[in-house]
Amino acid sequence: MNNMKRKIPPVNGTPPAGAAGKKEESVAPSNFIRAIIDEDVETGKWDGRVMTRFPPEPNGYLHIGHAKSICLNFGLANDFGGRCNLRFDDTDPSKESMEYVESIKADVRWLGFDWQDREYYASDYFERLYDYAVTLIKAGKAYVDDLSPEEIRQYRGTLTEPGKNSPYRGRSVAENLDLFTRMRDGEFEDGARVLRAKIDMAAPNLLMRDPTLYRIKHVSHYRTADRWCIYPMYDFTHCLSDSIEKITHSLCTLEFEINRELYDWVLDALAVYHPQQIEFARLNLTHTVLSKRKLIELVKGGIVDGWDDPRMPTLSGIRRRGYTPAAIRNFCERIGVAKANSTVDIALLEHSVREDLNQNAMRVMAVLNPLKVVITNYPEDRQEELEADNNPENPSAGSRRIPFSRVLYVERDDFREEAPRKWFRLAPGREVRLKHAYYITCNEAVKDEQTGEVIELHCTYDPQTRGGWSQDGRKVKGTLHWVSSAHAVEVEVRLYDHLFSKEDPNAVAGGEDFKEGINPDSLQILPNCRVEPALADAKPGSRYQFLRLGYFCVDPKYSAPGKPVFNRTVTLRDTWAKIEKSQKNKA
Ligand code: ATP
Ligand code: MG
Repeated sequence: MNNMKRKIPPVNGTPPAGAAGKKEESVAPSNFIRAIIDEDVETGKWDGRVMTRFPPEPNGYLHIGHAKSICLNFGLANDFGGRCNLRFDDTDPSKESMEYVESIKADVRWLGFDWQDREYYASDYFERLYDYAVTLIKAGKAYVDDLSPEEIRQYRGTLTEPGKNSPYRGRSVAENLDLFTRMRDGEFEDGARVLRAKIDMAAPNLLMRDPTLYRIKHVSHYRTADRWCIYPMYDFTHCLSDSIEKITHSLCTLEFEINRELYDWVLDALAVYHPQQIEFARLNLTHTVLSKRKLIELVKGGIVDGWDDPRMPTLSGIRRRGYTPAAIRNFCERIGVAKANSTVDIALLEHSVREDLNQNAMRVMAVLNPLKVVITNYPEDRQEELEADNNPENPSAGSRRIPFSRVLYVERDDFREEAPRKWFRLAPGREVRLKHAYYITCNEAVKDEQTGEVIELHCTYDPQTRGGWSQDGRKVKGTLHWVSSAHAVEVEVRLYDHLFSKEDPNAVAGGEDFKEGINPDSLQILPNCRVEPALADAKPGSRYQFLRLGYFCVDPKYSAPGKPVFNRTVTLRDTWAKIEKSQKNKA
């Protein structure tokens, strides 16, 4: 089974936009986790059960790295007929909020996954976790320590030196119970005391040197309000929450490998249900930071336009940018799941987005930097409608009619006064095809008298080429996009580049801040673009291919009725396809 490919049934939840009517079936490559579960199902290790969970801490918005974990956990559950819980690991009241909870739920749903009624919170387990702590105290496996945080650090020792026992380590069970109760009752200040596991101050793994289980924090929690002034530590909470939920395969990223020994100790000491932890490599992407701490810095520092800034690697950001859930799921399948950390080229993510939009995005015409074209032999009072197909990749997408008239706009870049021989666009004396329309020939460039800038082209059209095809077999090499001046709608278009110019923005040189790697040109706003009239009412979130310019999405934040703002989702140039091709050629 190990190297076999298996069919994944369609995921629950919203189908990806534009994919209506398409059967959504993907083939997931096998990986080492799948192989482990295959074997467990075969041997009946968990009575054939597969129970996973996605456990975010609601202290920020989800990013594309989380998508990898979501697709893995929900995907495996779907695939093996199991279930996946959504659990909020909310043990740090100073950083968590309901806003983050709501955003996480919206993002998981948007990706196409459904936790049904299994929405859990570690904070709902606080009473049970407290009881577990009491059980440990009674068993002589936990004690209340009065050392200050600084002293605890000093006593811990180092990788090469063993730690020292705290003078409070020998407290009696009765005294520990009394103090722990009083900690809960709010008798002590923050940091005055902690509850620690009594393990081994000489353990080679520093996490095993009597780790803290509970700390005092007189901070209101977004769900439990002021009911608690002591909060369980993440390590204690996480493994017990998995145990309470009877998780079979507890999937986490590699950095938690070292925590496994502690999780095992806690679960064994309490003799409770014991899930199997499996670590996998986290996703790293070039030109991207995927650490909530850093992303929060960008948001709070006003460096980006909120969590959903289209340049952010957050799911809300890439949604606003126009990425589709299907593209992200495909990307997550492509990158696979491995045991060794690596960095994925962001071009692969963009490639997945293009692939989906190529199939599903309607083609339209837009001009980003308009240059006026007057068709001097086209009657002033005439206008006509031409047929334009909506998506050559998908004939069922049908066609629409677009207006043509005497005055048009073309892209400024598509004209050159002095053009080389192999220039297949507009230049004095050159003939081109206007997509879906006519052949036109440029006769004259009108210039601004003051600046010398070309402000208008005078062209003639060939009436025999309606639809963009000549009757006499005459060929032109260039096909340009255009819009009719009188009919076009003026819109704002936003072009994006990587938020970080550096390939690895996390690798900061001596003392340098990661923010120094920020690309100052990552956002370009073009205020006077022109689009086909039909786009005036384009709905926020809808996606298009602007011919020759890329894929674009109507911005949900800044668009107004009749006044859409377009975000460029991705250009048409597929650098990943090039990389793949050159690798194949080498091989
Ligand atoms: P960050 O490091 O960005 O703060 P985190 O790990 O603290 O993220 P959590 O909310 O704890 O964020 O993450 C929820 C789940 O998502 C965890 O199981 C975590 O391992 C996983 N996860 C987080 N980042 C990545 C990533 N880059 N690749 C794969 N999985 C990830
Ligand atoms: Mg975490």
